[in-house]
Amino acid sequence: MNGITADKGLHDQVERLRGLAFKMGEYRPPSEGGSASLLLRVTENCPWNRCSFCEMYRGHRFAVRPVAEIKADIDRVTAICEEIIVASSKLGVGGQISRDLGATLLAVGPDLVENASFITVFNWLASGGRSAFLQDADSLTMRSADLVAVLQYLRETLPSVIRVTTYARAKTLARKSAEELRTIHQAGLDRLHIGLETGDDELLALIGKGVTTAEQIDGGRKAIAAGFQVSEYWMPDLGGRKRWRQHAENTASVLTAINPHYIRSRPLAPRPGTPLFEEIAQGRMQLSSPHERLEELAWMIGRLEVTSRLCFDHAMNGWVDRRGGLLFRQDYEGYRFPDEKPLVLERIREGLAVDESMHRHVRMPGGVRPL
Ligand code: SF4
Repeated sequence: MNGITADKGLHDQVERLRGLAFKMGEYRPPSEGGSASLLLRVTENCPWNRCSFCEMYRGHRFAVRPVAEIKADIDRVTAICEEIIVASSKLGVGGQISRDLGATLLAVGPDLVENASFITVFNWLASGGRSAFLQDADSLTMRSADLVAVLQYLRETLPSVIRVTTYARAKTLARKSAEELRTIHQAGLDRLHIGLETGDDELLALIGKGVTTAEQIDGGRKAIAAGFQVSEYWMPDLGGRKRWRQHAENTASVLTAINPHYIRSRPLAPRPGTPLFEEIAQGRMQLSSPHERLEELAWMIGRLEVTSRLCFDHAMNGWVDRRGGLLFRQDYEGYRFPDEKPLVLERIREGLAVDESMHRHVRMPGGVRPL
């Protein structure tokens, strides 16, 4: 039994909460995860949708949501917050958002556990209501004036928010003017998560990324100059055994040219239903072994000349050390470069000294063994 006694006075709040819902997409970066970020959908799905490794929005049409609809969603978030705070006051805990309050609301309205809007807002409030993530895959594809209107409304309506982040394609950033990007940043967008994947032009063409390295560098640099924090995701083993070296070398040189705030490792995990999965399943591409992946990492990281933070904040970075613990820290702030570069290279050497069978490594689903 929780610490707050269930109160019939909460039925009004529960009834109103049942009628309040806003649109949310499925994906956000792990660093916006847990319960930390409010998820708001400003576009739906991916305007590109052609990367050969990606299944995220496959089969779903892209749409930009009208500003009025997004503002109405922000109003619903406010309304949900108000009902939760009233419930807290009724229970005599003065606006405090605690687990007990959540348990009491669910005791009065058990169906609320299925209400994603309520659960998201409750957890977000309980975490301090400080950050918001705009979905889906490329929010900057909205007309700049519309995105600015959404950001201004979000900041005015939910003043507890101190950080707003989103996904963006480098190509879209490269197409925006420096002035537009600055205006969007000043309207309240703080951080961009960009899928770089590789800095190798041949590989970019092979995976259908729809961007060149020149555009990646231009987009990333313009975003930084406009004031954004930039987080670039690269995909170890995207070149497989055949192209690992060019992938590593050219990725290091593009990331060095951008010098983003964050570089995040997302080793390739082939997804069923994608063209890349089929290529691997049919033997046209060979994935690297765990040690080969570490050698690729050493080759890439050894060439990085950046002041970024290098992060391994995903379970796919599953290499282990001599004691069987994780080889790399998986926190969202990662290793500070250049100071911690020697430490990361030392960790890689330790990983190479561990028997290869110990590493938690990608296995192809459906019984296909890539190694
Ligand atoms: S741009 Fe991003 S979301 Fe869109 S298909 Fe490529 S990887 Fe997937």
